[in-house]
Amino acid sequence: MTLLKQLGLADTNSGTYLGNGEWSTTTDAGVIESINPTSNELIARVHATSTADYETVMARAQAAFAQWRTTPAPRRGEAIRLCAEALRRHKDALGSLVALEMGKSKAEGDGEVQEMIDIGDFAVGLSRQLYGLTMHSERPGHRMYEQWHPLGLVGIISAFNFPVAVWAWNSFIAAVCGDISVWKPSPRTPLTAVASMKICNEALRAGGFPDIFFLINDAGTDLAQAFVDDHRVALVSFTGSTRVGRIVGERVARRMGRSLLELGGNNAIIVDESADLKLAIPAIVFGAVGTAGQRCTTTRRLFVHESIYEDVLAKLVAAYQQVEKRIGDPTDPANLMGPLNSRDAVAAYLAAVEKAKALGGNVETGGAAIDRPGNFVLPTLITGLTNDAEVVQTETFAPILYVMKFSQLDEAIALQNAVPQGLSSSIFTQNLKAAEAFLSAAGSDCGIANVNIGTSGAEIGGAFGGEKETGGGRESGSDAWRAYMRRQTNTINYSDALPLAQGIKFDL
Ligand code: NAD
Repeated sequence: MTLLKQLGLADTNSGTYLGNGEWSTTTDAGVIESINPTSNELIARVHATSTADYETVMARAQAAFAQWRTTPAPRRGEAIRLCAEALRRHKDALGSLVALEMGKSKAEGDGEVQEMIDIGDFAVGLSRQLYGLTMHSERPGHRMYEQWHPLGLVGIISAFNFPVAVWAWNSFIAAVCGDISVWKPSPRTPLTAVASMKICNEALRAGGFPDIFFLINDAGTDLAQAFVDDHRVALVSFTGSTRVGRIVGERVARRMGRSLLELGGNNAIIVDESADLKLAIPAIVFGAVGTAGQRCTTTRRLFVHESIYEDVLAKLVAAYQQVEKRIGDPTDPANLMGPLNSRDAVAAYLAAVEKAKALGGNVETGGAAIDRPGNFVLPTLITGLTNDAEVVQTETFAPILYVMKFSQLDEAIALQNAVPQGLSSSIFTQNLKAAEAFLSAAGSDCGIANVNIGTSGAEIGGAFGGEKETGGGRESGSDAWRAYMRRQTNTINYSDALPLAQGIKFDL
């Protein structure tokens, strides 16, 4: 296939980047099949990583860290500048591969590569801004300050739905912070990982830089689990479901390692009686249907003021029926929605619809798989359930939106918070008091809270992540870089005395 060739991929590929420009030749550690969700046909194969190759990767990554941590940070930024430039050149091809393998639309695939480029640019600037504070010492003749040092090896375990951007969010920031990253991508999207690694590592080698990015792949979960337990990994940055994230967080805590958890969401939009529906309706549809409901920030619950409920529902049903006409092959730019990523995801979608119906929910539109090859389903609106229904409390990774009514804003905010997850939230209102109440300390309990813009599509400049069962981690912009460094407080005595803290005297 020309697209694969363009990205340096073959029908069968190594899934292990060993460093020194070498890809492993091991073929007996299992094979991961990359399946096209549009047809359920094989795209290509990727060989998984053997235990011996894993040891080579870790030893080389440790050796690389010893060198990289003393490379000046602005020089580390130059390395990432080259990666971002290379991604610009390959944006169209890599964006198409993301659409082909993950199943999101071509526009969203390209958008994901653009996020890699944007975080690259951000990281370049950051490489000159890894600031620490200075403090006034309480002792005369003393100076006190803090500095941020590189942490070590960063293990990145990523989910299928953002198969390349999440790696860049982590590895580019980690690289300017002086860390070396080892990536274990999702077994559902191994090809986009191999392609990203080739693009960036070739750019680094051409620029005379050492290896700072390594890749491993696991056909099951044994290697991933050993990776999580490995003391050489200073930080495990995990993006995925709450179920697996809980296991990972507990295991890393047991060995006193650091983890950064980016887990599931159950995001809501509140639409009050003053809302501008010209903004609200497209934001809801994009939030609930975009990426076929497979974003961590997908809108899954909607609370509409009772006075406009019927109008909003009618407009949404009409909009959903427009989207239905543009469901299909995600690599065709005419389509707005592609398939779910796997057959299992279709089964989970159908099970959620059945559960909702059994609990008394009404399917206003959608609610069924589409009878054609691939994993296509209809975007679905369900009414008649309360927020505490089990199916509403659960993140089903599919385009299902539960629509509910409210009469008082306080009640809507309380309902929006009354789920185990705490990732993204938004309110549509033209009422200043309502907007401020939503953003106040007594308002949304999520890591992301927006006004007159939907729950999905966060910009890289802000810190990204959420509370409660979403895991509490923050990635990407703002000061999220601090998670990838270790803080050191330094006190220097330039006097001739040794004054002890708290005025303590030690007569010796
Ligand atoms: P998943 O939890 O099934 O898999 C995530 C990763 O964990 C994969 O790489 C998988 O191979 C690995 N894994 C599985 N078992 C493991 C184990 N025992 N030890 C170590 N690693 C293991 O998630 P998924 O289906 O790929 O992705 C969808 C989920 O990810 C959703 O819940 C979504 O909300 C979440 N997500 C969250 C964010 C965020 O930033 N908060 C972003 C994207 C996706």
